[in-house]
Amino acid sequence: MTKVDIAVIGLGVYGSASAHALAATGRTILGIERAGEHELPGASAGPLRMVRGLPADALEQWHTLAPAAFRALPAVDGSGASSHDGGLLDAPAAVRALRARAVERGARLMFGETAQVTPGGRVLVGDHTVDAGQVLFCTGAWTATLPGWARIPGLRTERAVMQVASFPAFPSHAFHLFGSDDERFCALPVDDHGTVQFGHWSTPAGLDDAAIARRDLAALRRHFPALGAMRRHTSVRGAYTLPPGDRFVLRRSTAHTAALVACSGVGFKFAPQVAARVAAAYDGNPSDDQLFLEGWL
Ligand SMILES: Cc1cc2nc3c(=O)[nH]c(=O)nc-3n(C[C@H](O)[C@H](O)[C@H](O)COP(=O)(O)OP(=O)(O)OC[C@H]3O[C@@H](n4cnc5c(N)ncnc54)[C@H](O)[C@@H]3O)c2cc1C
Repeated sequence: MTKVDIAVIGLGVYGSASAHALAATGRTILGIERAGEHELPGASAGPLRMVRGLPADALEQWHTLAPAAFRALPAVDGSGASSHDGGLLDAPAAVRALRARAVERGARLMFGETAQVTPGGRVLVGDHTVDAGQVLFCTGAWTATLPGWARIPGLRTERAVMQVASFPAFPSHAFHLFGSDDERFCALPVDDHGTVQFGHWSTPAGLDDAAIARRDLAALRRHFPALGAMRRHTSVRGAYTLPPGDRFVLRRSTAHTAALVACSGVGFKFAPQVAARVAAAYDGNPSDDQLFLEGWL
Protein backbone atom coordinates (compact mmCIF):
# COMPACT_ATOMS: atom_id res chain seq x y z
CA MET A 1 0.00 0.00 0.00
CA THR A 2 1.26 3.49 -0.90
CA LYS A 3 1.02 6.26 1.69
CA VAL A 4 0.64 9.94 0.78
CA ASP A 5 -0.25 13.05 2.72
CA ILE A 6 -2.85 14.35 0.23
CA ALA A 7 -4.50 12.63 -2.74
CA VAL A 8 -6.10 15.00 -5.25
CA ILE A 9 -8.83 13.30 -7.27
CA GLY A 10 -9.45 14.87 -10.70
CA LEU A 11 -6.83 16.91 -12.57
CA GLY A 12 -8.82 19.54 -14.44
CA VAL A 13 -7.72 23.10 -13.81
CA TYR A 14 -8.67 22.95 -10.10
CA GLY A 15 -7.03 19.63 -9.31
CA SER A 16 -3.90 20.63 -11.24
CA ALA A 17 -3.71 24.06 -9.57
CA SER A 18 -4.36 22.48 -6.16
CA ALA A 19 -1.70 19.78 -6.65
CA HIS A 20 0.74 22.56 -7.54
CA ALA A 21 -0.19 24.78 -4.57
CA LEU A 22 -0.33 21.90 -2.07
CA ALA A 23 3.07 20.55 -3.20
CA ALA A 24 4.59 23.83 -1.97
CA THR A 25 3.54 22.96 1.60
CA GLY A 26 6.11 20.13 1.68
CA ARG A 27 3.50 17.36 1.82
CA THR A 28 3.53 14.30 -0.44
CA ILE A 29 0.90 14.82 -3.14
CA LEU A 30 -0.62 12.23 -5.46
CA GLY A 31 -2.94 13.48 -8.24
CA ILE A 32 -5.24 10.94 -9.95
CA GLU A 33 -7.11 11.66 -13.19
CA ARG A 34 -9.35 9.16 -14.89
CA ALA A 35 -8.89 10.62 -18.37
CA GLY A 36 -5.71 10.22 -20.39
CA GLU A 37 -2.95 12.78 -19.99
CA HIS A 38 -3.91 14.58 -23.22
CA GLU A 39 -7.68 14.62 -22.71
CA LEU A 40 -9.79 17.12 -20.78
CA PRO A 41 -13.27 15.66 -20.49
CA GLY A 42 -14.80 18.09 -17.99
CA ALA A 43 -15.36 21.79 -17.49
CA SER A 44 -11.76 22.60 -18.43
CA ALA A 45 -12.32 21.29 -22.00
CA GLY A 46 -12.24 23.39 -25.15
CA PRO A 47 -9.74 25.76 -26.61
CA LEU A 48 -10.10 29.12 -24.89
CA ARG A 49 -11.09 30.67 -21.58
CA MET A 50 -11.61 34.38 -21.01
CA VAL A 51 -9.71 35.69 -18.04
CA ARG A 52 -10.62 39.32 -17.66
CA GLY A 53 -11.83 41.66 -14.96
CA LEU A 54 -9.19 40.12 -12.67
CA PRO A 55 -7.22 41.86 -9.95
CA ALA A 56 -3.68 42.62 -11.22
CA ASP A 57 -2.03 40.11 -8.87
CA ALA A 58 -4.33 37.29 -10.06
CA LEU A 59 -3.54 38.07 -13.66
CA GLU A 60 0.14 38.15 -12.80
CA GLN A 61 -0.19 34.69 -11.23
CA TRP A 62 -1.53 33.23 -14.48
CA HIS A 63 1.19 35.03 -16.47
CA THR A 64 3.85 33.47 -14.24
CA LEU A 65 2.35 29.98 -14.11
CA ALA A 66 1.46 29.55 -17.78
CA PRO A 67 3.10 32.29 -19.88
CA ALA A 68 2.87 30.34 -23.14
CA ALA A 69 -0.88 29.75 -22.65
CA PHE A 70 -1.69 33.42 -22.27
CA ARG A 71 -2.80 35.78 -25.02
CA ALA A 72 -3.74 39.43 -24.75
CA LEU A 73 -7.31 40.19 -25.75
CA PRO A 74 -7.14 41.04 -29.42
CA ALA A 75 -9.08 44.32 -29.32
CA VAL A 76 -11.87 46.35 -27.82
CA ASP A 77 -15.24 44.71 -28.42
CA GLY A 78 -18.87 45.77 -28.32
CA SER A 79 -19.19 45.06 -24.58
CA GLY A 80 -16.59 47.68 -23.74
CA ALA A 81 -13.96 45.16 -22.61
CA SER A 82 -10.44 46.28 -23.33
CA SER A 83 -7.26 44.36 -23.92
CA HIS A 84 -5.84 45.87 -20.73
CA ASP A 85 -7.95 44.05 -18.18
CA GLY A 86 -7.18 40.45 -19.04
CA GLY A 87 -6.71 38.03 -21.85
CA LEU A 88 -7.43 34.62 -23.26
CA LEU A 89 -6.00 31.39 -21.92
CA ASP A 90 -5.41 28.32 -24.04
CA ALA A 91 -7.17 25.99 -21.56
CA PRO A 92 -5.35 22.70 -22.31
CA ALA A 93 -1.97 24.48 -22.39
CA ALA A 94 -2.73 26.20 -19.07
CA VAL A 95 -3.69 22.91 -17.42
CA ARG A 96 -0.56 21.23 -18.84
CA ALA A 97 1.58 24.03 -17.41
CA LEU A 98 0.02 23.69 -13.94
CA ARG A 99 0.56 19.92 -14.00
CA ALA A 100 4.18 20.31 -15.10
CA ARG A 101 4.81 22.79 -12.29
CA ALA A 102 3.16 20.48 -9.77
CA VAL A 103 5.50 17.67 -10.87
CA GLU A 104 8.49 20.05 -10.62
CA ARG A 105 7.49 20.58 -7.00
CA GLY A 106 7.48 16.85 -6.35
CA ALA A 107 3.81 15.92 -6.87
CA ARG A 108 3.14 12.54 -8.49
CA LEU A 109 0.38 12.51 -11.10
CA MET A 110 -1.41 9.44 -12.50
CA PHE A 111 -3.61 9.43 -15.62
CA GLY A 112 -6.14 6.99 -17.02
CA GLU A 113 -7.07 5.80 -13.52
CA THR A 114 -10.47 6.17 -11.85
CA ALA A 115 -10.22 6.65 -8.09
CA GLN A 116 -12.71 5.34 -5.57
CA VAL A 117 -12.47 6.77 -2.08
CA THR A 118 -13.65 5.59 1.33
CA PRO A 119 -14.70 8.12 3.99
CA GLY A 120 -11.54 7.22 5.93
CA GLY A 121 -9.24 8.40 3.13
CA ARG A 122 -8.43 5.06 1.52
CA VAL A 123 -8.14 5.50 -2.27
CA LEU A 124 -8.67 2.52 -4.55
CA VAL A 125 -7.03 2.81 -7.97
CA GLY A 126 -7.47 -0.38 -9.97
CA ASP A 127 -6.10 -3.12 -7.72
CA HIS A 128 -3.85 -0.68 -5.91
CA THR A 129 -4.68 0.96 -2.56
CA VAL A 130 -3.41 4.35 -1.45
CA ASP A 131 -3.59 5.38 2.18
CA ALA A 132 -4.09 9.15 2.08
CA GLY A 133 -4.00 11.39 5.14
CA GLN A 134 -6.35 13.70 3.25
CA VAL A 135 -8.30 13.37 0.00
CA LEU A 136 -9.31 16.44 -1.99
CA PHE A 137 -12.00 15.84 -4.62
CA CYS A 138 -11.56 18.23 -7.57
CA THR A 139 -13.98 16.27 -9.70
CA GLY A 140 -15.93 19.17 -11.24
CA ALA A 141 -19.42 18.15 -12.36
CA TRP A 142 -18.73 14.57 -11.19
CA THR A 143 -18.76 15.86 -7.60
CA ALA A 144 -22.56 15.62 -7.94
CA THR A 145 -22.28 11.87 -8.55
CA LEU A 146 -20.02 11.07 -5.58
CA PRO A 147 -21.42 9.12 -2.62
CA GLY A 148 -23.66 11.28 -0.40
CA TRP A 149 -20.98 11.79 2.28
CA ALA A 150 -18.59 13.38 -0.27
CA ARG A 151 -20.98 15.69 -2.12
CA ILE A 152 -21.41 19.43 -1.86
CA PRO A 153 -25.04 20.11 -0.93
CA GLY A 154 -26.82 22.34 -3.41
CA LEU A 155 -24.28 21.77 -6.21
CA ARG A 156 -25.94 21.97 -9.64
CA THR A 157 -24.42 20.84 -12.91
CA GLU A 158 -25.41 21.52 -16.51
CA ARG A 159 -24.29 20.18 -19.83
CA ALA A 160 -22.21 22.68 -21.82
CA VAL A 161 -21.61 22.54 -25.57
CA MET A 162 -19.47 25.02 -27.45
CA GLN A 163 -18.66 25.25 -31.14
CA VAL A 164 -15.33 25.57 -32.92
CA ALA A 165 -15.40 26.25 -36.67
CA SER A 166 -13.36 27.87 -39.45
CA PHE A 167 -14.59 30.48 -41.93
CA PRO A 168 -12.65 32.23 -44.69
CA ALA A 169 -13.74 35.66 -43.46
CA PHE A 170 -13.97 35.50 -39.69
CA PRO A 171 -12.41 38.71 -38.32
CA SER A 172 -9.46 37.53 -36.22
CA HIS A 173 -8.68 40.93 -34.72
CA ALA A 174 -11.41 41.14 -32.05
CA PHE A 175 -13.44 39.07 -29.65
CA HIS A 176 -17.14 39.65 -29.41
CA LEU A 177 -19.82 39.44 -26.75
CA PHE A 178 -23.34 40.33 -27.61
CA GLY A 179 -26.99 39.70 -26.89
CA SER A 180 -29.39 40.33 -24.07
CA ASP A 181 -28.70 39.13 -20.53
CA ASP A 182 -30.57 35.84 -21.16
CA GLU A 183 -29.21 35.24 -24.64
CA ARG A 184 -25.56 36.15 -24.26
CA PHE A 185 -23.36 35.00 -27.08
CA CYS A 186 -19.59 34.99 -27.30
CA ALA A 187 -17.19 34.56 -30.24
CA LEU A 188 -13.43 34.27 -29.73
CA PRO A 189 -10.87 34.04 -32.55
CA VAL A 190 -8.75 30.93 -31.96
CA ASP A 191 -6.05 31.65 -34.55
CA ASP A 192 -5.28 33.96 -37.47
CA HIS A 193 -6.78 31.57 -40.02
CA GLY A 194 -10.47 32.22 -39.43
CA THR A 195 -11.05 29.67 -36.65
CA VAL A 196 -13.57 30.83 -34.06
CA GLN A 197 -14.86 29.40 -30.77
CA PHE A 198 -18.45 30.49 -30.27
CA GLY A 199 -21.60 29.70 -28.37
CA HIS A 200 -24.34 30.86 -26.11
CA TRP A 201 -23.72 31.37 -22.41
CA SER A 202 -25.74 28.33 -21.35
CA THR A 203 -26.91 25.19 -23.12
CA PRO A 204 -30.72 24.92 -23.35
CA ALA A 205 -32.25 21.72 -22.01
CA GLY A 206 -34.02 19.59 -24.62
CA LEU A 207 -31.84 20.43 -27.64
CA ASP A 208 -29.46 17.86 -29.05
CA ASP A 209 -25.92 18.82 -30.06
CA ALA A 210 -26.84 19.27 -33.74
CA ALA A 211 -29.70 21.66 -32.87
CA ILE A 212 -27.41 23.62 -30.54
CA ALA A 213 -24.78 23.87 -33.28
CA ARG A 214 -27.41 25.18 -35.75
CA ARG A 215 -28.65 27.77 -33.26
CA ASP A 216 -25.13 29.00 -32.45
CA LEU A 217 -24.14 29.08 -36.11
CA ALA A 218 -27.24 31.13 -36.96
CA ALA A 219 -26.34 33.62 -34.21
CA LEU A 220 -22.78 33.88 -35.54
CA ARG A 221 -23.99 34.48 -39.10
CA ARG A 222 -26.46 37.13 -37.90
CA HIS A 223 -23.58 39.07 -36.43
CA PHE A 224 -21.08 38.37 -39.22
CA PRO A 225 -23.10 38.04 -42.46
CA ALA A 226 -19.97 37.82 -44.65
CA LEU A 227 -18.46 34.69 -43.09
CA GLY A 228 -18.71 32.52 -46.21
CA ALA A 229 -18.73 28.72 -46.21
CA MET A 230 -17.84 26.87 -43.02
CA ARG A 231 -14.67 24.82 -43.51
CA ARG A 232 -14.46 22.69 -40.38
CA HIS A 233 -16.72 22.31 -37.39
CA THR A 234 -16.61 20.48 -34.06
CA SER A 235 -18.84 20.64 -31.00
CA VAL A 236 -16.82 20.57 -27.78
CA ARG A 237 -18.70 19.06 -24.85
CA GLY A 238 -18.08 20.12 -21.29
CA ALA A 239 -20.01 20.68 -18.10
CA TYR A 240 -21.01 23.70 -16.07
CA THR A 241 -20.63 23.41 -12.30
CA LEU A 242 -22.81 25.73 -10.25
CA PRO A 243 -22.14 25.60 -6.52
CA PRO A 244 -24.58 27.27 -4.14
CA GLY A 245 -24.32 31.05 -4.36
CA ASP A 246 -22.34 30.75 -7.61
CA ARG A 247 -19.10 30.90 -5.63
CA PHE A 248 -16.23 28.56 -5.03
CA VAL A 249 -16.70 26.05 -2.23
CA LEU A 250 -14.15 23.93 -0.38
CA ARG A 251 -16.10 21.70 1.95
CA ARG A 252 -14.89 19.07 4.36
CA SER A 253 -16.91 15.88 3.96
CA THR A 254 -15.25 13.64 6.61
CA ALA A 255 -12.17 14.03 8.80
CA HIS A 256 -10.11 12.74 5.84
CA THR A 257 -11.90 14.12 2.79
CA ALA A 258 -12.99 17.43 1.28
CA ALA A 259 -14.40 18.59 -2.06
CA LEU A 260 -13.60 21.75 -4.03
CA VAL A 261 -15.71 23.22 -6.83
CA ALA A 262 -15.88 26.64 -8.43
CA CYS A 263 -18.56 28.37 -10.41
CA SER A 264 -18.44 27.69 -14.12
CA GLY A 265 -18.23 30.58 -16.51
CA VAL A 266 -15.60 32.33 -14.39
CA GLY A 267 -13.92 29.46 -12.53
CA PHE A 268 -10.84 29.19 -14.70
CA LYS A 269 -9.58 32.66 -14.07
CA PHE A 270 -9.59 32.27 -10.28
CA ALA A 271 -8.08 28.77 -10.16
CA PRO A 272 -4.53 29.72 -9.03
CA GLN A 273 -5.89 32.09 -6.38
CA VAL A 274 -8.40 29.59 -5.05
CA ALA A 275 -5.72 26.86 -5.03
CA ALA A 276 -3.43 29.10 -2.96
CA ARG A 277 -6.23 29.57 -0.42
CA VAL A 278 -6.88 25.83 -0.35
CA ALA A 279 -3.17 25.17 0.34
CA ALA A 280 -3.22 27.78 3.12
CA ALA A 281 -6.27 26.06 4.66
CA TYR A 282 -4.45 22.69 4.70
CA ASP A 283 -1.23 24.28 5.88
CA GLY A 284 -2.92 25.63 8.97
CA ASN A 285 -3.54 22.02 10.12
CA PRO A 286 -7.19 22.82 9.88
CA SER A 287 -10.01 21.76 12.08
CA ASP A 288 -13.25 20.82 10.34
CA ASP A 289 -14.52 24.39 10.53
CA GLN A 290 -11.39 25.99 9.19
CA LEU A 291 -11.33 23.84 6.10
CA PHE A 292 -14.71 25.08 5.01
CA LEU A 293 -14.09 27.98 2.67
CA GLU A 294 -16.64 29.67 0.55
CA GLY A 295 -16.10 32.87 -1.26
CA TRP A 296 -15.84 34.99 -4.28
CA LEU A 297 -12.50 36.56 -5.05
C1 LIG B 1 -18.35 26.10 -21.96
C2 LIG B 1 -17.61 26.69 -20.77
C3 LIG B 1 -17.05 27.96 -20.90
C4 LIG B 1 -16.37 28.52 -19.81
N1 LIG B 1 -15.78 29.74 -19.97
C5 LIG B 1 -15.03 30.26 -18.97
C6 LIG B 1 -14.32 31.47 -19.17
O1 LIG B 1 -14.36 32.06 -20.25
N2 LIG B 1 -13.58 31.95 -18.13
C7 LIG B 1 -13.48 31.30 -16.93
O2 LIG B 1 -12.79 31.78 -16.03
N3 LIG B 1 -14.14 30.13 -16.72
C8 LIG B 1 -14.90 29.59 -17.72
N4 LIG B 1 -15.55 28.40 -17.52
C9 LIG B 1 -15.45 27.74 -16.20
C10 LIG B 1 -14.17 26.92 -16.01
O3 LIG B 1 -13.79 26.32 -17.23
C11 LIG B 1 -14.43 25.89 -14.90
O4 LIG B 1 -14.76 26.59 -13.71
C12 LIG B 1 -13.21 25.02 -14.63
O5 LIG B 1 -12.71 24.46 -15.82
C13 LIG B 1 -13.57 23.93 -13.63
O6 LIG B 1 -12.50 23.03 -13.53
P1 LIG B 1 -12.52 21.78 -12.57
O7 LIG B 1 -11.11 21.34 -12.43
O8 LIG B 1 -13.29 22.10 -11.32
O9 LIG B 1 -13.43 20.68 -13.30
P2 LIG B 1 -13.09 19.69 -14.52
O10 LIG B 1 -12.28 20.36 -15.56
O11 LIG B 1 -14.40 19.12 -14.93
O12 LIG B 1 -12.19 18.56 -13.87
C14 LIG B 1 -12.70 17.48 -13.14
C15 LIG B 1 -11.84 16.27 -13.47
O13 LIG B 1 -12.12 15.21 -12.53
C16 LIG B 1 -11.94 13.99 -13.21
N5 LIG B 1 -12.60 12.94 -12.41
C17 LIG B 1 -13.91 12.88 -12.06
N6 LIG B 1 -14.14 11.80 -11.28
C18 LIG B 1 -12.94 11.16 -11.14
C19 LIG B 1 -12.51 9.98 -10.44
N7 LIG B 1 -13.36 9.24 -9.70
N8 LIG B 1 -11.21 9.61 -10.52
C20 LIG B 1 -10.32 10.36 -11.23
N9 LIG B 1 -10.67 11.49 -11.92
C21 LIG B 1 -11.96 11.89 -11.86
C22 LIG B 1 -12.57 14.23 -14.57
O14 LIG B 1 -12.10 13.33 -15.54
C23 LIG B 1 -12.13 15.70 -14.85
O15 LIG B 1 -10.94 15.78 -15.63
C24 LIG B 1 -16.26 27.81 -18.58
C25 LIG B 1 -16.82 26.53 -18.45
C26 LIG B 1 -17.49 25.97 -19.54
C27 LIG B 1 -18.06 24.59 -19.38
